[in-house]
Amino acid sequence: MEKNSNQLMEKIISLCKRRGFVFPGSEIYGGLANSWDYGPLGTELKNNIKQLWWKRFVHMRDDMVGIDAALIMNPKVWEASGHVATFSDPLVECKKCHHRFRADYIDSKNCPDCKGDLMEAKQFNLMLRTFLGPVEDKDSIVYFRPETAQAIFVDFKNVQETSRKKLPFGIAQIGKAFRNEITPGNFIFRTREFEQMEIEYFTKESLWEDSFEHWRSQMQAWMTNDLGLDKNNIHELDVPKSELAHYSKKTIDFEYDYPFGTKELYGLAYRTDFDLKNHFKEAPYRDEEAGEVLYPHVIEPSFGVDRSILAVLCDAYVEEKERIVLKLKPQLAPYKVAVFPLLKNKSELVEKAREIYNHLKQDFVVAWDDRGNIGKRYYSQDEIGTPYCVTVDFDTLEKGEVTVRDRDTMKQEKVTMKDLKQYITEKMYAN
Ligand code: ATP
Repeated sequence: MEKNSNQLMEKIISLCKRRGFVFPGSEIYGGLANSWDYGPLGTELKNNIKQLWWKRFVHMRDDMVGIDAALIMNPKVWEASGHVATFSDPLVECKKCHHRFRADYIDSKNCPDCKGDLMEAKQFNLMLRTFLGPVEDKDSIVYFRPETAQAIFVDFKNVQETSRKKLPFGIAQIGKAFRNEITPGNFIFRTREFEQMEIEYFTKESLWEDSFEHWRSQMQAWMTNDLGLDKNNIHELDVPKSELAHYSKKTIDFEYDYPFGTKELYGLAYRTDFDLKNHFKEAPYRDEEAGEVLYPHVIEPSFGVDRSILAVLCDAYVEEKERIVLKLKPQLAPYKVAVFPLLKNKSELVEKAREIYNHLKQDFVVAWDDRGNIGKRYYSQDEIGTPYCVTVDFDTLEKGEVTVRDRDTMKQEKVTMKDLKQYITEKMYAN
């Protein structure tokens, strides 16, 4: 199938809208440049990704804890971190039509829209500003955080002292970030409001390379095992020294083959002790037993939530002869099971199906469908990635058996009602 085409992207965007994964934001007012809202199914998918990430990187490990910090922080944070001075992209403006572009994204000296002359490039700070409180003057300017990372550094001492973690250990956070991107676009790939899942992993300087390698393989495992991405679509890019961010000594970008090109999905950076040194006058790490006082060094695995969703959708989207299927990992699928009564007008079937539906709902997110014929219901669930469909028919009433149909193989199996939960759980985790 063509993975690299505008047509494929259009199809995915249309599926997202049609089935309630992602809608244009503020649509009834004409939208708001590149803002998107997650609908009922998109929200389930998003929550599944975030929960799985938290489980893998916080709950399953002894060396990780989490925080959930304020979005708006003291502006001194962004001065100390270097963001006020250097978090910018080069901006050019057309002298004729006044359209603005990121200078490093255009390859000619003329305006891509009207071919007019371009002005000199200026640095444009990407932090989104607002005023805190009723007075709109320079003293009340604050920034929406452009990354979740800084709160982890600022809270380092509080977290370390209360959790009593010893090096090496990490702090994770999931939350919104805002960047006044000059050229947002490509659906949810680049937006001005987005969500990140970030880890700051604190270690001793002498161990940074080990930690870097550890996180590189953890990120690979997350992409292929948890998100189920095809490893052929993922590429590691060692960012050249000249392009490294101001705080980084080594960065790897994990790129993904999106339909619109191979672009960054995640990043992994060695941030040295830059951040903690900026925020803390005295070394913030103290290990009384070992008699150590030091500035830990930092490895930062950084994951975009929205780019994860986009990669998952692109990877899972399959067109077959008669159907469109989202081959999502069962753990990611918005609904794990759909329940159908074979016939809508047979009350005993509907009642039994309702009973099974309510029973399954205690453990899974379950869909209900009694419209049209069974074939149509299967295709409708295939398109949103539901891995198992359960049909309640006359055998259910007579023998206590339901028919379970598998999304990927389309095979059907008879399963007794009492084994159903166990059957679904086993299949889900076998995948
Ligand atoms: P890019 O080069 O694409 O602008 P970046 O290198 O500036 O990204 P980071 O600062 O490393 O991105 O941010 C970490 C992660 O946050 C990225 O890998 C990406 O997944 C996500 N991210 C960054 N900017 C955006 C955005 N504008 N919209 C959606 N996700 C984003």
